[in-house]
Parts: sequence; structure tokens; C-alpha cells
Amino acid sequence: MVSPSTVRVLVDMDGVLADFETSLYKNYRSRYPDEPSIEPNDRRGFLAGDQYAGIRPDLRPKIASIYETPGFFLNLEPIPGAIEAINEMSNLKNTDVFICTSPLMKYEHCVQEKYEWVEKHLGPEFVRRLILTSDKTVVWGDLLIDDKDCITGVEPNPSWEHILFTCCHNTHLDPRPPRRRLQSWADDWRSIVDSKRKT
Ligand SMILES: [Mg+2]
Repeated sequence: MVSPSTVRVLVDMDGVLADFETSLYKNYRSRYPDEPSIEPNDRRGFLAGDQYAGIRPDLRPKIASIYETPGFFLNLEPIPGAIEAINEMSNLKNTDVFICTSPLMKYEHCVQEKYEWVEKHLGPEFVRRLILTSDKTVVWGDLLIDDKDCITGVEPNPSWEHILFTCCHNTHLDPRPPRRRLQSWADDWRSIVDSKRKT
């Protein structure tokens, strides 16, 4: 009997494991209480800065100042169910789980804090499973679970199937079949992983 092949799952961090949008909104509101703000439910488009700049151009650096603040990435709350799901997924037989995340180009605090966040919430062993890259198309995997609508890079045909993880900024987008979505970590991620098993 042939043993089933291993499924390799790449899991994005911000918007999938770590709640970037809620912290961004709360910290922005507290630092700039007199400025217009966009509630998470009204977010549209991947980059908050683009939407804020559409209100007033000078809001772009203000929103950036929030996620460039030391401690922002380390203090993100986990997305509900994410830690349990990742731990369960990584304990499945024939399943390799890696966290695949793109740091800010202004990386001074972000990069170290991403490592610290993983150690804090998933333990020191999981730090080995952290991949930081600005181009996810060159990373090999069966699945990439990511809240970003459109993931591009130098590889026109990435090995992975992109599963769109629902986040406030992408809820309005068409599901665009056959692309699959994961609505939350309460959704059936196990079936999606199993769908890649070859026996
Ligand atoms: Mg993300």
C-alpha cells in the first residue's frame, strides 16, 4: 500500500493568524481621535493606507505610523480559533505547516516581532516554521491560506492553491469560483487540507 503523500500548508500571518485590522483601527482611533476613521466592517481593499488616502492623502502616513510603532506586531491578538487550528493542523499525520508572511518594507520592528509573536503564541519550536518573504509565489506548497485577494510575484504559476481567508477587507469580493474561501477558523479547514491528499 502506498502511503499518502504529505500535504504542505502555508499559512499567512496578518489577517489569518494575527488580527492586524482590529489593532490597526483601535490604535489609530486612540492616537488620532479627531481624524476620520474606517471601521473594520467598512474596510475595502487589502491596503488600509489606500483606503484612508482616499479620504484625505495625509491620512496615509498616519495609518502607517500605527503599524510602524514598536510593539504593534507583537501585541496583535490572535484571530479567534487560529492558534488551536494551527496546532491541530500541525499535529495531523502527513501534514507540514509553515507560516508564510510578508514583512513590511519598513522592517525594523516588524520582522523581529513576527518571530516573537510566533514564539509567544505557538511556542519556540514553531519559530522554525516561519518563512518571511516578499514573494510567496516562489515558496512551494499545496495550499496557501491568505487574506490577500491577489498574490503575485515572479512565479506566474505558483505551486499552491490560494485559499482566500475571509477578513473585513475582502468580504465584499466575489468568491470567483473556483477559488475557495475559508470563512474563519471555525470553517471546515480540515476538508480543504484533505482535498490535497493523494492516495
Ligand atoms: Mg495577510
